[in-house]
Amino acid sequence: CGVFGIYAPGENVAKLTYFGLYALQHRGQESAGIATFEGTQVHLHKDMGLVSQVFNESILDQLPGSLAVGHTRYSTTGSSRKVNAQPAVLETRLGSLALAHNGNLVNTVQLRQELLENKCNLVTTTDSEMIAFAIAEAINAGADWLEGAIQAFHRCQGAFSLVIGTPNGVMGVRDPNGIRPLVIGTLAGNPVRYVLASETCGLDIIGAEYLRDVEPGELVWITEEGLASYHWSQQPQRKLCIFEMIYFARPDSVMHNESLYSYRMRLGHQLAKESFVDADIVFGVPDSGIPAAIGFSQASGVAYAEGLIKNRYVGRTFIQPTQTMRESGIRMKLNPLKDVLAGKRVIIVDDSIVRGTTSRKLVKTLREAGAVEVHMRISSPPVTHPCFYGIDTDSQDQLIAATKSVAEIAKQLEVDSLAYLSWEGMLEATREDTNSFCSACFTGDYPVAIPEQVKRSKLS
Ligand code: 5GP
Ligand code: SF4
Ligand code: MG
Repeated sequence: CGVFGIYAPGENVAKLTYFGLYALQHRGQESAGIATFEGTQVHLHKDMGLVSQVFNESILDQLPGSLAVGHTRYSTTGSSRKVNAQPAVLETRLGSLALAHNGNLVNTVQLRQELLENKCNLVTTTDSEMIAFAIAEAINAGADWLEGAIQAFHRCQGAFSLVIGTPNGVMGVRDPNGIRPLVIGTLAGNPVRYVLASETCGLDIIGAEYLRDVEPGELVWITEEGLASYHWSQQPQRKLCIFEMIYFARPDSVMHNESLYSYRMRLGHQLAKESFVDADIVFGVPDSGIPAAIGFSQASGVAYAEGLIKNRYVGRTFIQPTQTMRESGIRMKLNPLKDVLAGKRVIIVDDSIVRGTTSRKLVKTLREAGAVEVHMRISSPPVTHPCFYGIDTDSQDQLIAATKSVAEIAKQLEVDSLAYLSWEGMLEATREDTNSFCSACFTGDYPVAIPEQVKRSKLS
């Protein structure tokens, strides 16, 4: 999911949030929503669809206020329905709260039970709503906004980057492992105004300047007095999702002081070093495979050319919830360039193979278009384990690399050769401490323990 928050009295906060969400659209295409606060009054609009489908000028005009939070949804828990769209708005003793969540809790079974015992009226099926209820519960028992939120966060296990609107200000929060990203930006002026976004591309679009990341286990509270920071977790550690870097986040977003485009090019360099093969051209699977393909070309000397053209108006195939939709989505999306491919030995680079369905189709497409050899290179290691923290990599039995060796996968995809980047190569390219990432979908080493019953739902 994508989350956005802004505290900027005097500005059109709904419009700024709209543009922020627009830039974060790649993080979720199922539903979109904005909540604004005008004093104690909350205004909310949310619906299924893309940001540009859910909002228009007149809807935005009906969302006045001095602060706002917004969300674009990508469903991993809870069904794909309008009631599950966010922000989730609840009433508390101190007024309304509007919560937007990116990530996935792993202790939802227990949390749901506790909340139901306390007679919470859960209306949706999402873990996000449970967080909102846990905050409301603490506040109704006497806590203030900060205490109430922190008490609730201690009951949550898993991944949560949150933006929360209240009548008094906006909160930005990351879980103790900082699995999902969240950045702080500033809008110039007197006083300076603060913005929160999942990625820096959500700041760029409104002309906000990147200040810093919200730290793992940190809560920032943005009010008329400015920005205050609270380190609420006793055991914070850096476990940013490495999949954000190799695939999920936008290439123009900056993490660790460089664009992910540069990082992904370096993955391509490393991939060429590890698994060079001679060929006439190399290209990436649009869009996610392109930076690594350029890197592969630079490091190997194999000419870069476009072999596939993408219709950019079709959503990411894997975000659509059913297998049937996924398969038809692929056909709508990529078209081969026959005159570029005919008679050529080609290297096709992609960021990952999950189920293998896209890749197998693509190889077939390339051969039909005249490619004489098809070599596939993947800029991350084999995905062998499911994600429980908010990326929809499906259950383990759906993952092609969970049960098959690289040679077996090559055979199934009908490629002439297949190589994945090594785990070490992927981490080395980050130029950060290798311990500061979650890479559980490649290793099975989950930084937040997965309760048994949840494990059983996805691990075979
Ligand atoms: P596959 O061959 O596994 O069907 O699809 C691989 C493609 O899906 C790659 O181009 C990759 O960009 C994209 N992809 C990346 N991350 C994910 C993910 O988390 N889930 C799924 N299903 N596909 C993803
Ligand atoms: Fe990211 Fe994989 Fe960890 Fe999930 S399991 S948070 S996709 S690195
Ligand atoms: Mg892709």
